[in-house]
Amino acid sequence: MRANRVDTKPERLLRSELHRRGLRFRKNLRLDLERRHVRPDIVFPGPAIAVFVDGCFWHRCPKHLSWPQANAAFWEEKFRRTVARDRLDDAALAEAGWKVIRVWEHEDPADAASKICAEVPVGHTLR
Ligand SMILES: [Zn+2]
Repeated sequence: MRANRVDTKPERLLRSELHRRGLRFRKNLRLDLERRHVRPDIVFPGPAIAVFVDGCFWHRCPKHLSWPQANAAFWEEKFRRTVARDRLDDAALAEAGWKVIRVWEHEDPADAASKICAEVPVGHTLR
């Protein structure tokens, strides 16, 4: 099961913020890389920038990770697999020439947008 397939509120806020700043992008575009399919939350195809908004719980944000009380082994395995998949996605993207930006869902949308704006060259937001 994908932890981050649904369009979450932090993603929506970040997308609105990016739009407000004039950036144009694709959302949930599946990238068919040589080794795996990756579906970043926000994609700038021209400059080849992939953005993920990682949920604190699933992706194990160091500030907010919590451990469910019951079924510890089950959760540990689930979290391990989620984080391992993140790293495989990062590696596959980097190998294919993509820049990966990950922001935590707890990050202020304006701060996250600034981080992204700093990487996207002006005038090359969509193509
Ligand atoms: Zn967090």
